[in-house]
Amino acid sequence: MTRVFARKALLPDGWADDVRLVIADGRIASLERGASAAPDDTLVGSVIPGLCNAHSHAFQRALAGHTEQRSPAGHDSFWTWRERMYELAGVVDAKALTAIARQAYCEMLASGYTSVAEFHYLHRDPRNPDAEDTMFEAIVSAAEDSGIRLTYVPVHYERAGFDDPEPAPHQRSFAMTIDAFLAHHARAVANSGAAVNVAIGAHSLRAVSHESLQEIVRVATDAFIPIHLHVAEQQREIDQCMGAYGRRPVRWLLENFPVAANWCLVHATHMDHDETEALAKSGAVVALCPSTEANLGDGLFPLHHYLSNGGRIAIGSDSHISINPFEELRWLEYGQRLASQSRNVVSLRDSHVGRELFLRALEGGAAASGQETVGINENAPADFVVLCDDDPMLAGHDDESRLDALVFSGYPLPVERVMVNGNWCVVDAVHVDRDRSRAEYAAALANLGAMR
Ligand SMILES: [Zn+2]
Repeated sequence: MTRVFARKALLPDGWADDVRLVIADGRIASLERGASAAPDDTLVGSVIPGLCNAHSHAFQRALAGHTEQRSPAGHDSFWTWRERMYELAGVVDAKALTAIARQAYCEMLASGYTSVAEFHYLHRDPRNPDAEDTMFEAIVSAAEDSGIRLTYVPVHYERAGFDDPEPAPHQRSFAMTIDAFLAHHARAVANSGAAVNVAIGAHSLRAVSHESLQEIVRVATDAFIPIHLHVAEQQREIDQCMGAYGRRPVRWLLENFPVAANWCLVHATHMDHDETEALAKSGAVVALCPSTEANLGDGLFPLHHYLSNGGRIAIGSDSHISINPFEELRWLEYGQRLASQSRNVVSLRDSHVGRELFLRALEGGAAASGQETVGINENAPADFVVLCDDDPMLAGHDDESRLDALVFSGYPLPVERVMVNGNWCVVDAVHVDRDRSRAEYAAALANLGAMR
């Protein structure tokens, strides 16, 4: 049993003082406000809930910083970046994936994420092409080693485009038949321990046929699990979808499927006014990934119109060009400020923008990852982040503005400790397995460099 005495804690109804948490079997067994510390308590500063990283491709952590050189043709875009990503995807085997994903997950924990939804379509191990599930097992062991709470999202990928029913040669490490995919999903459900949630996903409308998507949606509906897919990230996809289906992607999805609260649409960048309103009213969550969307030149999500119609959001670090939830929230707001030439855009419920962004991402991330509870509460999983009260970022801030400081001050994060499932994963601002993770990550990259 672990006992934590926090000077302050952000609870579902706001900040509380002198909060004592008793943790047993990975859960908060009791929570007392206005308490006194007992001799064996771990004394900490301010405690906040950890955020969910609602959209991750862990293997792409190895690509960060490697695609920032202009190509000889000078026409760089999402599609030229994708060629580089395919090169990496073709050589990452299960051993390398374990090391890369573990490093990404350790970095997530150290920056204040406590859970991740891993959108996983790298199903084939190039060293062991006949093995069915080694890449899935790599993700699970990386999550276990790092301590992060995992929602595994197996993702179906079957074709090169709307008019091309076969995968291209470089997509063969992702592609499988719908029957093989559903069998993989069933094995993932059967073989995951209690610590892993299993959701389901389709890569995108261009990569999955209407018929296969119907089968995936049936599984999600029957099991009442989250369903994730990329949608409307790039203008080219809008044009192709209009050509093939006669509708914009989000509009087509809303007309053909029962899009509801268990759906997580990733990006949804390019929507017209009516699509934005209809998607907001569906109850679905949109996973926004501002650092990746900026890096890839995707475009800007119509955030204010979406939120003002009741839309729900989560955040993700997607390609891991950056792993910092507060930076994602900051750039989510900054994109809107730059586009509208105004300030404090996401202030529909609360005049404090940082607090509103954080609480929206907390609720949306919990929904997208299938978590049963939101925030720090009795009987909830013992997942939380301890902030260092002595950090200059928080000096002079009170309960009103503490989350604004976290989101909008671009200084090193004051994350002192992180607990997931009752275990301390980060202590004194360092992941408890940092050195081994770094060494094995560097070795994996050196090995991949030799293979590429
Ligand atoms: Zn993605």
